[in-house]
Amino acid sequence: MPATLARDTETPSSPPPSAGAQALAWRAGFARLGDAFFTRLPPRPLPSPQWVSHSRDMARRLGLDEGWLRSAEALEIFAGNRVPDGADPMATVYSGHQFGVWAGQLGDGRALLLGETAGGYEIQLKGAGPTPYSRMGDGRAVLRSSIREFLASEAMHGLGIPTTRALALTASPQPVRREEVETAAVVTRVAPSFVRFGHFEHFAYADRIEELRTLADYVIERYYPECRDCPSTARLGGNAYAALLEAVALRTARLMARWQAFGFCHGVMNTDNMSILGLTIDYGPFQFLDGFDPNHICNHSDTQGRYAYNRQPNIAYWNLFCLGQALLPLIGEGEPAHALALAALEPYREAFPAALNEALRAKLGLAGLPEQDGDRPLVEDTLRLLATERTDYTLFWRRLSHHVAGSTGTGVSDGPVIDLFVDTAAARAWLERLDARLAGADRPQAGLAMLAANPKYVLRNHLGEEAIRAAKLGDFSALQRLQAVLEAPFDEHPAHDALAGFPPDWASTIEISCSS
Ligand code: AMP
Ligand code: MG
Repeated sequence: MPATLARDTETPSSPPPSAGAQALAWRAGFARLGDAFFTRLPPRPLPSPQWVSHSRDMARRLGLDEGWLRSAEALEIFAGNRVPDGADPMATVYSGHQFGVWAGQLGDGRALLLGETAGGYEIQLKGAGPTPYSRMGDGRAVLRSSIREFLASEAMHGLGIPTTRALALTASPQPVRREEVETAAVVTRVAPSFVRFGHFEHFAYADRIEELRTLADYVIERYYPECRDCPSTARLGGNAYAALLEAVALRTARLMARWQAFGFCHGVMNTDNMSILGLTIDYGPFQFLDGFDPNHICNHSDTQGRYAYNRQPNIAYWNLFCLGQALLPLIGEGEPAHALALAALEPYREAFPAALNEALRAKLGLAGLPEQDGDRPLVEDTLRLLATERTDYTLFWRRLSHHVAGSTGTGVSDGPVIDLFVDTAAARAWLERLDARLAGADRPQAGLAMLAANPKYVLRNHLGEEAIRAAKLGDFSALQRLQAVLEAPFDEHPAHDALAGFPPDWASTIEISCSS
């Protein structure tokens, strides 16, 4: 096998690597933790793999040559048919709370960690075959859900929302049974770390404190070194584990603010789907809101609405408590440890509303202005107005941005913002309030800032659905077109106006469940 992906420890006498190989030198990362944390195994090959798409930006960050990415060797690697030299594929073990209930051991049931690149990126193949943690599952991911994950990863990044990334999407005609027979695909996911809250819960619930400590020390050393720095953790008595909890809580608060501001619903906020780095992770039944309905439930399997849009910030806090519970044995003993853990979680309660307020102010064009007494009511009334008529969330903000900028957009994102409402009198009264607030401001500048805060394009369910339908027929061009637009969602792309329009009637009938 050619030395495609070489360890950075290799001697200078190693054969010169190919273009792809040079960039993907590996180093020991998660593998350092030891056998308690994973099971080593190779991906299971798929027949007749085919490229669907890849992310140029992610390839660039990994230093991968575009030409090499088009090679047969790259296709084999990212379909899981060839283990690159120096990679150390493994499935990691974690547990978690699912829908509020302790679910016990879960783990990477269909994702394999290939390793960590010398540049600090972990690379995973999702859908690469069964692992010891697959339980009843087949270890595969279907093309439909893989397209959604691939597009969402890059769309979220385009919006500036912290997320795991996607380098590549490959497909195979191999049949995979879900509600109906579908076909297999593999998403190559990339993130600095795929560690989840559930990794900590796994060892805490089994009372395996030494492994818990090993994991926490690794995460602190690699991703949160400031938590060892006593001055920054003085409020928490210099306790590095409490400081870690606080740091994760703050990142999660910022993530929730971004989700809410962009109308993103995750759909399955189980603790095993919560990233220790505050990234959006595990795209399943996610959805960007069409009309603004605060109670919207995007997951057809979530009959109780536990993960409804407006509950996400509270659920994140609940999940942080689970993480705090797991870290408790490291934080200390008895009442003082409890008090420290609570103190570490407390800042979430201010950080989230503050971050959301900041994001909504930016959406309204108030970012550059000193906050005034009437601003919070104005922000709240804006959301109330949108909720009353379930106004289209993305089109509203985009048209409003053009209104303030005094510019014209193209397609349906142009046009009076008032026209989005049935009760035009209420909408006009609200708009006059905003205009009055912006009276002394530099409107063109505020408008430009709004156009950079309010995307023209988001990955609406029906857009994903259209790309999936074409891809199932072997045509990946719609997907690639959509991807290109979502990578730069604040740009006008007038040739792609159709992707910025109202959802068609059938969009509300799309049912996305956990099936993937
Ligand atoms: P999810 O709801 O996608 O976050 O998955 C929850 C758990 O089920 C994780 O441990 C996944 O690895 C596992 N899982 C989901 N689908 C499959 C599958 N098709 N095969 C094996 N494991 C799976
Ligand atoms: Mg998951």
